[in-house]
Amino acid sequence: MFNTFTKREEELKLERTVRIYVCGITAYDYSHIGHARTSVFFDTLRRFLEFKGHKVIYVQNFTDVDDKIVRRAVKEGKTQKEIAERFIEEYFKDMSALNVKKADHHPKVTDHISDIISAVQKLIEKGFAYVVDGDVYFHVPAFPSYGKLSGFSLEELNRHRIEPDPRKKDVKDFALWKSAKEEDIKAKAVFESPWGLGRPGWHIECSVMSAKYLGVPFDIHGGGKDLIFPHHENERAQSYALFGVEPVRYWIHNDFVTIKGEKMSKSLGNIVRIRDVLKRFDGEVLRFFLLSAHYRSPLDYSEKALERAKKSYNSLKNSLELLDMEIAYLKTFGEDRTPVNSYATVDSFFRRFIDALEEDMNTPKALATLHEFSSFVNKNVANMSLEELEYCFNMFKQLCWTLGLFESYKRVPALPQDVAELIREREIARKERDFEKADAIRSKFREMGYILIDTPKGTRWKLIR
Ligand SMILES: [Zn+2]
Repeated sequence: MFNTFTKREEELKLERTVRIYVCGITAYDYSHIGHARTSVFFDTLRRFLEFKGHKVIYVQNFTDVDDKIVRRAVKEGKTQKEIAERFIEEYFKDMSALNVKKADHHPKVTDHISDIISAVQKLIEKGFAYVVDGDVYFHVPAFPSYGKLSGFSLEELNRHRIEPDPRKKDVKDFALWKSAKEEDIKAKAVFESPWGLGRPGWHIECSVMSAKYLGVPFDIHGGGKDLIFPHHENERAQSYALFGVEPVRYWIHNDFVTIKGEKMSKSLGNIVRIRDVLKRFDGEVLRFFLLSAHYRSPLDYSEKALERAKKSYNSLKNSLELLDMEIAYLKTFGEDRTPVNSYATVDSFFRRFIDALEEDMNTPKALATLHEFSSFVNKNVANMSLEELEYCFNMFKQLCWTLGLFESYKRVPALPQDVAELIREREIARKERDFEKADAIRSKFREMGYILIDTPKGTRWKLIR
């Protein structure tokens, strides 16, 4: 995978247990599809590692105290905690619709204030940080390899800090602890510290919480690429200064979701919320769409693009169902079939799918292979033996599940004898042009939760979903 730190593709050298930290949302508003892309991508990476036999320990934080949360709390006459809790809950709702699994730990800043205070104290003791009237700053020149993650030169770094602050020793210095402002007190977003009432700066939380739950160094640090600078640059500096080692083995960042080629932003007013997309499209369709581009390329969102994704998604779902219906049919009625020897072909689809994901998580390539697999299924399903069908079904399903698709798929059951008899009766009725009887039987099936499908090779049934 492409490592942002070394700026090249590297073979991931992983033990059986893989430790992953992904920066989570700042809980001050509904999440948008850019957040969805990050969460879906790293969830897919996690699933793939699990598929390959790794045990993954996955941590994603919530920033539950921050300027934007405080601002909203004051505006709505609420506390920081009330605002954060509301949008954390909304985030989980959105993620559940997208089949994003819960992390092993979802730490929140406000539950780790004392850990953060100890870390800041340690940074002061070690000479990496200093106190000015209740604020604590990390002194960037004390950490010579600052800039190595983002690749910014000293000149670029100096330019990034636009507001010169005479209280800082260097323009690049950033806050580890911020003294309480009036708004913070109003929103109950302040905590006791050796430097007075205040709250943590943004970056220190991820250094503290990743080390607490994963140890140092850990394997993979993920996030959207907008976090490379300053957030991850600062996080790396803090962690290295605290623990004396390179804290992360692989830094992995995903690109943005764009709208008409532009980045989504509040100021442009082009933010698309997950919950609004879910009113019109199934969560799995959105997930499918988000995986349809390589994670390091921008992905342009539009209704049209989502419609296309839906079609493509449905064609995969249809193939899965076709296999399943054929299995149910053969289990119910039996039929001697000469195997079409599909095993080698199916294995090659399987191998190519895995290869695609092993090439820097190339999900569009993996999806293209799934589509080839799907065409093969559509062409051969009516001739495959039961054993082949089951093999094919399991392989297809496994690949889809690795991408987080069709997780809640319900199997089409074989029919008990008396119900199967009704299918026979209906076929006879149809031959005798007794359509009234045929329709009556069809209605009976509908009541039982099935849709009947007449094919040249006989009647099949599927579940009403
Ligand atoms: Zn973070």
